[in-house]
Amino acid sequence: MSESESHGQVVRGCIVGTDYLSEIVTHSGVISEIRRVPGETSSSDCWISPGFIDIQVNGWRGKNFNRESVMPEDVLEVVRMLWEYGVTTFLPTVTTESRESLSKSMAALRQAAEESAEVDHACPLIHLEGPYISPQDGPRGAHTLEHVRPPTIEEFGFLQECAGGRIGLVTLAPEQEGAIPFMEELAGKGIVMAIGHSDASPEDIAAAVNAGAKLSTHLGNGSHAKIDRHRNYMWEQLARDELSASLITDGHHLPPAVVKCMVRCKGVERSLLITDAVGLAGLPAGLYSDWDKPVEVTQDGAARLHGTPYLAGAIEPLTRNVQRAVQFAGISLADAINMVTINPARLMGMADRIGSVEVGKDADLVLFDWDNEKYELTVTQTMSQGQWVFPNGDSQ
Ligand SMILES: [Zn+2]
Repeated sequence: MSESESHGQVVRGCIVGTDYLSEIVTHSGVISEIRRVPGETSSSDCWISPGFIDIQVNGWRGKNFNRESVMPEDVLEVVRMLWEYGVTTFLPTVTTESRESLSKSMAALRQAAEESAEVDHACPLIHLEGPYISPQDGPRGAHTLEHVRPPTIEEFGFLQECAGGRIGLVTLAPEQEGAIPFMEELAGKGIVMAIGHSDASPEDIAAAVNAGAKLSTHLGNGSHAKIDRHRNYMWEQLARDELSASLITDGHHLPPAVVKCMVRCKGVERSLLITDAVGLAGLPAGLYSDWDKPVEVTQDGAARLHGTPYLAGAIEPLTRNVQRAVQFAGISLADAINMVTINPARLMGMADRIGSVEVGKDADLVLFDWDNEKYELTVTQTMSQGQWVFPNGDSQ
């Protein structure tokens, strides 16, 4: 047992959303006390935030949860790599594939969590994005047409069994045959239902909301290049207060004005930031022709299906998306931090344990510097369950 584990930690800094210094005391992996430190704050004080939460991560630096060859140790590696960016919880995301391939991914993710306490803590739930989506070019995004299909309770039950019951978020197109009763049944079991990669009519959106849909997945992406200016699925989802929206604010997926309008429309409390990071994230720029499909990674941080304008997921870290959300939407740092902490925690039903700095919650914390002129967020230290995990492992 390390010293920190036996004695707990005292973490000092300015909790985001406050303007005074605090000391956070941790014990046995949990926040046991928070005390205000008298005196003025100074520019050398760092910010403290709850650990960041990303509900859409397909992989990182060559590891891809969507490959049937994904191994449990790959998941642990991604957990550890993302600490660098302050991410202490994420939902491994598996996209449209054959039944067999999906079952293998689910089994690997389950095994990873069962074998590793670190994975179990960091990845409590899985996001199934597809295969029950629109077959159309545009809404389908980079998902493989041949594996797109209507949902069935039978197939989902099989995949959920492979996943050990960990599938907690499903993104689908409500206009798919049988989608509405499917959504009703899953929502009734507490699984969060999300609209995405969809060509839904206003009526389909209404039916999905009635069936319990709570989220629009990467709103504004996975859609047609051109749509009717008034009667379209974008306005309908924006206008629905029942739906939160996850946004990829990496500077490539949505123009600044769109981010601002979407955040204003949804309100801070219903906006979530996600990376949608693919396995190419963290790798050098270039053409990856042996990827699932040839993908071009550009110097400025975009990944596109080679020869098309379609983005093939994202490659920027979550910290970048927090920066851009502040810059594009004109919101405060505290608001942007909420979009990667308490908002996803509430949506996923995890707010009793994570998502805010409160006594009794898991000691998942991020210490960072923030440059308000350059919109730069630099993670200096990450703590998971009371242990310093970035940088240099837990021995600090
Ligand atoms: Zn997607």
